[in-house]
Amino acid sequence: MNCKEFERIIPSFIHREIDYPKLKEFSEHMKGCADCREELTIQFLVSEGMQHLEEGDSFDLQKELRERMEEARHAMKRQKKLSGLGTVFELLGIGISVGALVWLFFA
Ligand SMILES: [Zn+2]
Repeated sequence: MNCKEFERIIPSFIHREIDYPKLKEFSEHMKGCADCREELTIQFLVSEGMQHLEEGDSFDLQKELRERMEEARHAMKRQKKLSGLGTVFELLGIGISVGALVWLFFA
């Protein structure tokens, strides 16, 4: 992902509309690119800040951004676990097939 793409999907990230493969690229790019981190912070502040101003409550935007990132990290972890589970089932499936074949031929 380059900076242009990153900028383009910032709104999706803020509105939690980003899907897992993009989220992964998004956070990887963010780790390595200070400019985009700054851009994300600004857009987040503007978007969330406006909303809070309208609602008139107090807020800590830096904290909220951190929480949003944390949320994304957890979502990625869950996804990783799920795909790990998929591999286990696949291996199990292969194991059963091989077992069945062996049983057919040698029983
Ligand atoms: Zn960048």
